[in-house]
Amino acid sequence: MTAPRSAPGSSLPVTERTRHRRLREQGSLDRAELDAVLAAGFVCHLGVTVDGTVMVVPTVYGSDGSTLYFHGSVASRSLVASPGATVCVTVTHVDGLVLARSVFEHGVNYRSAMVYGVPRLVTDEAEKRAGLRCLTEQSAPGQWDYARRPNRKELAATALLALSLDEASVKLRTGAPDDGEGPDAELGLWAGVLPLRTEWGTPEPDPLLAADAVPPAHIGDRAGRPAS
Ligand SMILES: Cc1cc2nc3c(=O)[nH]c(=O)nc-3n(C[C@H](O)[C@H](O)[C@H](O)COP(=O)(O)OP(=O)(O)OC[C@H]3O[C@@H](n4cnc5c(N)ncnc54)[C@H](O)[C@@H]3O)c2cc1C
Repeated sequence: MTAPRSAPGSSLPVTERTRHRRLREQGSLDRAELDAVLAAGFVCHLGVTVDGTVMVVPTVYGSDGSTLYFHGSVASRSLVASPGATVCVTVTHVDGLVLARSVFEHGVNYRSAMVYGVPRLVTDEAEKRAGLRCLTEQSAPGQWDYARRPNRKELAATALLALSLDEASVKLRTGAPDDGEGPDAELGLWAGVLPLRTEWGTPEPDPLLAADAVPPAHIGDRAGRPAS
């Protein structure tokens, strides 16, 4: 979507946390791959410890290429706990089912990212508006300028967190099952990939709108386009 891309060839720093261990061949250190995974989505899972219990909360995000923003009510327990703690945020895109000859070799074609860090609560009003703009534009480009923007009261009721992308990893799997040249190839079973594609549908107007209301182009034009 709207996030800027990194300079070609720049790589992700490897930390003790982000070092790929298992399925390392699916890991990438290409910073552009991380940007692409983040740009292709708008829902992440925020993993945070709240009162001693791990919570993994699905939530909307925006990425400006160096910072991930997520928001919610100031009463949200996961958001209130996050600024004091190291969190782990994941973004996942499923591209297909990998159907192997053996159940053991079944898998998923995917693109995914994990980001570690201690989020910062954004309090500066200008930065808060910029972060909310980033978040809104990630899912619905053009909507920040189209819809009414948050007023002071709404801003005060919204917690916005900023998480640096300094410590992040990315993994991807593409292609056929891994057992095509193993002993199970002799079984004569069908094997391959069942692709999974998500696309935007036709906009459904609010029934309370006038019957002849048409969606703005930035919404209507998305019908039929890939969603991730
Ligand atoms: C949709 C989906 C389904 C999957 N299903 C399975 C499954 O059924 N079984 C299975 O074993 N694996 C599966 N994986 C891969 C899984 O996410 C892990 O990469 C893998 O299992 C290694 O886990 P680990 O705990 O050994 O991590 P480690 O290798 O110890 O992780 C080390 C570091 O590598 C990075 N990392 C690990 N995994 C990912 C990732 N997916 N994306 C970005 N960075 C990552 C993180 O920074 C992490 O801290 C799936 C992935 C996706 C996206």
